[in-house]
Amino acid sequence: VRAERLLILGNGGAAVSAARSARDSGHPGEIHLVSDVDGPAFNPMLSPYFLKGSIPWGSCFPFGLEWYSAYDVTCHFGSAVEFLDVLNRRAILEGGERLPYDKCLVATGAAPVVPPVPGLRGSSRVHVMRTAASVRRLDKAIASARRVLVLGASFVGLKAAEILARRGIGVTLLDVADRVLPLGAHPDCAAHIRSLFEGHGVKVHLGCSMDGMESSPQGAVCHFEDDVVREADLVVVCTGVRANVDFVDPTLVRMDKGILVDELMETNVPGLYAAGDASQGANLLNGEKEWLGTWENARLQGRTAGKNLAGQEARYHGSIPHNIGPFFDWTYAQIGDTLSGDLIHHAFGDPERGAHAVLAFREDLLVGANLINCTHLAGRLRRMILGKEQGSSFLNKATSVRDIESVLDVPMDGRVSALRPSFYRGGR
Ligand SMILES: Cc1cc2nc3c(=O)[nH]c(=O)nc-3n(C[C@H](O)[C@H](O)[C@H](O)COP(=O)(O)OP(=O)(O)OC[C@H]3O[C@@H](n4cnc5c(N)ncnc54)[C@H](O)[C@@H]3O)c2cc1C
Repeated sequence: VRAERLLILGNGGAAVSAARSARDSGHPGEIHLVSDVDGPAFNPMLSPYFLKGSIPWGSCFPFGLEWYSAYDVTCHFGSAVEFLDVLNRRAILEGGERLPYDKCLVATGAAPVVPPVPGLRGSSRVHVMRTAASVRRLDKAIASARRVLVLGASFVGLKAAEILARRGIGVTLLDVADRVLPLGAHPDCAAHIRSLFEGHGVKVHLGCSMDGMESSPQGAVCHFEDDVVREADLVVVCTGVRANVDFVDPTLVRMDKGILVDELMETNVPGLYAAGDASQGANLLNGEKEWLGTWENARLQGRTAGKNLAGQEARYHGSIPHNIGPFFDWTYAQIGDTLSGDLIHHAFGDPERGAHAVLAFREDLLVGANLINCTHLAGRLRRMILGKEQGSSFLNKATSVRDIESVLDVPMDGRVSALRPSFYRGGR
């Protein structure tokens, strides 16, 4: 019997995890991997650490080049997929090469979206952070920049603002939303994070949208509502991403923002799988298929897809929204849902004096948490949310971050202080 030929489209965490798990699961046949970039897989999550000067450039490529030959993966580097012909089971690359397959995985990730503001798209003054090339380009540009606008106070936007402020550059952070981290932070936490950034010299302007931009050899002139004009050397756009799936026919493959997958990571087309930021799997909080956009999710989905590509049966039930990271000398995590209108919020502590936690409950169940300087609680709280543990009702009785530690049996963290809680009910 001829061994099946596997085709993996993309070259990030999801793609590499899939190829590795297919081989580790004993797949004997050919594995082909297609990347639009000529080089080993890049981890975008590590790019802020490189730009801050905490890690060398090489560390952003966690698998290296040797990995592909060690796993006997045939690389088609530097050629983007242009069309996926699912009816004839073949991918067509730019330049016309046709790659047939028995089973295929789409793991082409996502790309930043630059809003359709006149003058923004295509300007040499505009930067994003995602691929190795975009990070290198930004690193070079900020070496001579004095004033930078960051559009979008998302997790990535805040990371960009921190990098620039640390490098001594004047930063203005702008968002149309009325607070930072509008998609994941309770207003209380968002206000603390905003103060942290302002304390480090970042100017924060919320509730404002850009109307247009003019670029010249001297810089960028950016126009906002109410005739506000801001000048900058660069504009870093962090206003969201879009799945790289333009080469997939949406009349044949079920899609929303990404390709819809089941627990096997299989699409509605037999033999076609998707994983990582190109896909939408289950959000375990609400059972909906949603775009979750994390490295961990990409790796786990890729690993599951790889086993199924190799003919084993593996399932990945899904995940919940989960972001964690350092901002200056604080750590911050947002897990699950803290924003729906029907939640009861309990807030503990004060980050200026130690730690701060906002826990969100739906009736008795913990459904979300925002944690400042107590992110050592994140793993345990996440498991609690995922497991729908009854013990979450006990958290209602906690009166301090210290109480939460002892209820959860998580070792204490030196920075956590015991302060009286304040309570919120419903609302945003
Ligand atoms: C600045 C930044 C910080 C982040 N921080 C965190 C964090 O702290 N924690 C976290 O969990 N996540 C973080 N993320 C998100 C995380 O990096 C992504 O969720 C993860 O990289 C998704 O992996 P992926 O393999 O699905 O996609 P990607 O990493 O995007 O890889 C997709 C690959 O496919 C290639 N490709 C695209 N189109 C084509 C095509 N047509 N043909 C061939 N190849 C193609 C791309 O070049 C790329 O190599 C961050 C992201 C950014 C940008």
